[in-house]
Amino acid sequence: MARVLDVRNLSVTYKNKNKCVYAVSNASFSIDQGDSMGIVGESGSGKSTMAMALLRLLPRKKTVVEGEAGFLGQDLLHISDEQLDRLRWKNLSVVFQKAMNSFSPVHRIGDQIEDIYRIHEPNATRKEAHGQAAKMLALVNLNERVYKLYPHELSGGMLQRVMIAVSLLHEPDLLIMDEATTALDVVTQGQILGELRKMESELKTSRIIITHDISVVSSSCNKIAVMYAGSLLESGHVSEVLARPAHPYTKGLLAAFPPLRGQRVVLESIPGYLPDMAARHEGCIFAARCPEAMEKCKSAAPARTDLGNDHFVSCHLIEVEKQ
Ligand code: SF4
Repeated sequence: MARVLDVRNLSVTYKNKNKCVYAVSNASFSIDQGDSMGIVGESGSGKSTMAMALLRLLPRKKTVVEGEAGFLGQDLLHISDEQLDRLRWKNLSVVFQKAMNSFSPVHRIGDQIEDIYRIHEPNATRKEAHGQAAKMLALVNLNERVYKLYPHELSGGMLQRVMIAVSLLHEPDLLIMDEATTALDVVTQGQILGELRKMESELKTSRIIITHDISVVSSSCNKIAVMYAGSLLESGHVSEVLARPAHPYTKGLLAAFPPLRGQRVVLESIPGYLPDMAARHEGCIFAARCPEAMEKCKSAAPARTDLGNDHFVSCHLIEVEKQ
């Protein structure tokens, strides 16, 4: 499979006059054609910041973004604004939570979709734009009837589905969904994710989905990346990581998630809070909350270890197990 995105040592620091916040630290991961990667982690773990950094949507004066992000042979973090504009929507698309607020209230939905399509396909006729829009609306389970409606005539969930359809208009190589289905009811969410999976296998589109919900990842992704306090702690194939989690934080997240089948179990939470992101941490970022922390964890940050089959983990326990 061809590589679509290759992120190496991505770091994002928010800066103001008095302090720095280290929102993402040295994150590395890759996505191949047709992959769908779920990025999970608690609020404040840096998931959305990482997506915003890849899309270069962070305020430039107040952030420092370092690292590399190879996308279809270009480095997203270093190409010109004009080059990036050519990639956005057409090759690289995004949907945010509450993206429906982006619609103009005074234009019909259909006109807005067609206008967006024709910005990147200036030679397309209205008929062609209409045909592509109808195809994508059907994908998110919306009737063409919405074409003639104004945004205020649709529910929030319907508008969010329109926004997902807009993001797919150009059948992008990579779609980033930042909590884009969180506000939808579970039935609609399941339908959309199911249709997306079908489209991905047909068109070989890749997807990053940022979510708190591990069930969304397990049902709609083939890869998973677990983030905590700006660090990517574990990544790999969903079937591998969920069946054999190697990092104590991943184990903690799974223990806090209710299983749908099998015996009833008592859910466990992870005691403690996220560390101060404005401070530099010498050792493992999870050490203060880790039930398996050792002396070494307080002073030395664990290296990213390749467990094979695309499974990576950053934890000193791996070295201990090898000895
Ligand atoms: Fe826990 Fe140490 Fe592994 Fe960090 S490196 S997760 S503190 S065992």
